[in-house]
Amino acid sequence: MKKRFVFRFSPDTVKKPLMSYLVREFNIDVNIWNADISYGREGKLVVELEGDENSIEKGLAYARSIGVNCSPSIKELQFNREKCINCGSCTSVCFYGALQINQESWELNYDPEQCVVCGLCIKACPLQLFSISREEE
Ligand code: SF4
Ligand code: SF4
Repeated sequence: MKKRFVFRFSPDTVKKPLMSYLVREFNIDVNIWNADISYGREGKLVVELEGDENSIEKGLAYARSIGVNCSPSIKELQFNREKCINCGSCTSVCFYGALQINQESWELNYDPEQCVVCGLCIKACPLQLFSISREEE
């Protein structure tokens, strides 16, 4: 199972080494997608957790037990595929391989599994076909 979460830290909880603990104690692979965090201040991490469902549930329960607010990330890239003219402009800014031109059909392939919702493609598309759904604050 692979799932994205938003972790919110208070000034106190931000001092605790949560990510390494999740890896070590619950055998969860942690991929940090976005970090807005500083020692001693409120902070937020967007992370992708990969592991078996039970381990992830236990890891989340542990995080909550030490005061970290964990919620599923609902931030997603919206793509208006019908209007795409396959110009390829967006592929040059997508460093994660989520946007690629198919070398046979010359059509744009968008793979949501690879997308980290960085938003770089939003400005790159001349037709403004990308947008990001708002994450809950
Ligand atoms: S949001 Fe970022 S990762 Fe996702 S498709 Fe756009 S450029 Fe690629
Ligand atoms: S930049 Fe826009 S129009 Fe061009 S391939 Fe990407 S999504 Fe399609």
